[in-house]
Amino acid sequence: MGEADHVINWGGGLHHAKKSEASGFCYVNDCVLGILELLKHHQRVLYIDIDIHHGDGVEEAFYTSNRVMTASFHKFGEYFPGTGDYRDIGYGKGENFSVNFPLRDGMDDESYRTVFRPVMARSMAKFQPGAVVLQCGADSLTGDRLGCFNLSLKGHGDCVNYMKSFGVPMLVLGGGGYTMRNVARCWAYETSILTGVEIPNELPYNDYFEYYGCVGGRQGKRCACVGGRKARCLVCVGCSQLGFQAAINGLVFICLPLARLLAPAPPAPAAPTTTCTSRPPTWRT
Ligand SMILES: [Zn+2]
Repeated sequence: MGEADHVINWGGGLHHAKKSEASGFCYVNDCVLGILELLKHHQRVLYIDIDIHHGDGVEEAFYTSNRVMTASFHKFGEYFPGTGDYRDIGYGKGENFSVNFPLRDGMDDESYRTVFRPVMARSMAKFQPGAVVLQCGADSLTGDRLGCFNLSLKGHGDCVNYMKSFGVPMLVLGGGGYTMRNVARCWAYETSILTGVEIPNELPYNDYFEYYGCVGGRQGKRCACVGGRKARCLVCVGCSQLGFQAAINGLVFICLPLARLLAPAPPAPAAPTTTCTSRPPTWRT
């Protein structure tokens, strides 16, 4: 991180693993290990999680710390791992340094943006992190085999773009994602955002063209009818087709956490001014 503005590890983002417990396809929590390394050089680190599942392992690791703020946007209610209530805000010194944004099925780009941008703007302004860790689980995309959100590549990538705009060093991680061709599309697109290289929608011909490209090479061909509604075409980044998940977010899920965060007396206190008292050990490799 010392020499780069952005560091990417799409193989990482295994946010469910605990200190002594594997969980949810995660064995080693690289997010936590990465943050511990960053804390050797930065007073405060902000962890953001846009996987559809709650980032429980990372939240738990830093639940009592005011040097790491965790913010998770996730499906909540009869859904793995079951944690991430908006009332879970941290404990002790870490009180108000855990932010949870529970959501219901069908979050689309506009709804997500309405939530993500103001919450992160406020968090960045109040917490003033020296580095950001962004977990980009792709199971929040529409059409995911396990997920039930309705984000397009553009909506998902907008989170990356927005966090990049703060100019704070950023470690970007992968995470979940269970419709594999969409995962590849998503992280390729987000690599282009982070590197500032525009990529065309047209794929260069390759051995896997039919697997990753539009059927028949035409954009929009994958906008199949699912359950009587048109599913969003993930191949075309700019596609504006209706999603197959209806936007049914309950107001209570959106309004309460937003109101708490954006209230005149914000819950997140200003950046702590105490100096670093504990230093994570140096890991042997
Ligand atoms: Zn996930």
